[in-house]
Amino acid sequence: MSQLRAAAAGLQRSGGRPVAPAGQSRKAASPRGGAPAPAPAPPPARHLFSDPAETEALRGSLLAWYDRCKRDLPWRTLAATEPDADRRAYAVWVSEIMLQQTQVATVIDYYNRWMQKWPTLQALAQASLEEVNELWAGLGYYSRGKRLQEAARKVVSDLAGRMPRTAEDLQKLLPGVGRYTAGAIASISYGQATGVVDGNVIRVLCRLRCIGADSSSPAVIDRLWDMANALVDRSRPGDFNQALMELGATVCMPKAPLCGECPVKQHCQAQRRVEKELAFASQKLFGKPAPVPDVEDCGVGGCPLCPPATEPWDSSLGVTNFPRKAAKKQPRVARTATCVLERRGCHGAPEYLIVQRPSSGLLAGLWEFPSLPLAQGLPEEKQREVLADHLQAWMGQPVAARGLRFIGEVVHIFSHIHQTYVVYSLPLDGDMTLDPALSPSRWVTEGEFHASAVSTAMKKVLKACEKQRGEESSPGKGSKRKRGVKPNGASSTRPGTQLSLRAFLQAPTSS
Ligand code: SF4
Repeated sequence: MSQLRAAAAGLQRSGGRPVAPAGQSRKAASPRGGAPAPAPAPPPARHLFSDPAETEALRGSLLAWYDRCKRDLPWRTLAATEPDADRRAYAVWVSEIMLQQTQVATVIDYYNRWMQKWPTLQALAQASLEEVNELWAGLGYYSRGKRLQEAARKVVSDLAGRMPRTAEDLQKLLPGVGRYTAGAIASISYGQATGVVDGNVIRVLCRLRCIGADSSSPAVIDRLWDMANALVDRSRPGDFNQALMELGATVCMPKAPLCGECPVKQHCQAQRRVEKELAFASQKLFGKPAPVPDVEDCGVGGCPLCPPATEPWDSSLGVTNFPRKAAKKQPRVARTATCVLERRGCHGAPEYLIVQRPSSGLLAGLWEFPSLPLAQGLPEEKQREVLADHLQAWMGQPVAARGLRFIGEVVHIFSHIHQTYVVYSLPLDGDMTLDPALSPSRWVTEGEFHASAVSTAMKKVLKACEKQRGEESSPGKGSKRKRGVKPNGASSTRPGTQLSLRAFLQAPTSS
């Protein structure tokens, strides 16, 4: 779901064009002063919902199934019971932003806590970014929370706290609200008859209408928007849109769709294609002549919605031949050295030093262990040196590279980055004075660390350190390292031994 939702969300972020009136296609712009551009030929009938009776039947079947089978979700309850239109729209907006790139099961807890803390736009507008980041911690794609809060402030300050009342105005007036989110808020909160296209809808529509051209291409996405606007039920648009997305999430799933349980299978061209292919195969098996091709079939002659001729039907895939999309771009590979600075707190419990990231860019404003991006191919010895230099500049005191204890590597996949953290630790038995002119920093207990605005990646880093500490304190249990053997690149210090601050903060050696 997440990749396709990303494709649709990516179009939103790039400023998707205004929604065409429901049921109509946008017209091609005519050149200034010249003859109108010829309208593109309509796609073949099998790619459209051109029969009003079929459209009506499909709407009825889908809505009846939704009424019977829909999941009980907190934002649905709020959308159905909240009498105030602004509060209703806000409740739907929060859910839609959280659901971008994230599974429903993960979102529920975050959503409930968010709505409890900030039940209205006004409450959210008064929150600090730090509070927003703390609540968002672990949900990923952190700029979403920040943008949501910025937009809430705009509604309160520029629009007198009143949410725009149409999809077009929502998209135009609210930063971070794209075509999909605007359509979802307007249809679910206000009953505007406008369609939505997210990853689930892309998959369902592509299967219902055998669309095999690259589903992330702007031309296909435009067609799908036209189709969604034509298909949406006029009397229950919000329920219809949610039903289409629910079908994609729970029945018409990416890898193993449950076609036998599908309420709209009688309208599904992909299913029809599978049945035809099976019939052809059995005829062939019994040596019967090849059937005459169906006049509705296309795929030859450059149909813009059919799979390219270079990617023929794969019978092993069945209905999952649809949709298709261009190969995903490989994520960028990055390495970062990070150091867990640890001291004993007042009751002997460990405390960790965390610093705040810049207010823009990746993980903006979040807290992390002191970290430093590494050049590719840097030898381990050099990594240790550059990290020591970084800590030294940051702490204002010399740090010996050999004092850094190597813990291991932690891999975290961001949407577009394959990130490896090369983790070191530096246990201290004294305090240090941090330069307040540098990045904001603070010492935290383990509990405070987890309650802070820290990323999942940093939680993994701390877990790796704690695991190693556990193995060192019980060397017989689970540790594969033999007693006395140093961890990779470690100093001569015995593992687990706390050294004095002076021992670490000494002048760097030339070695
Ligand atoms: Fe999806 Fe199968 Fe239903 Fe077609 S019949 S819409 S492929 S679940």
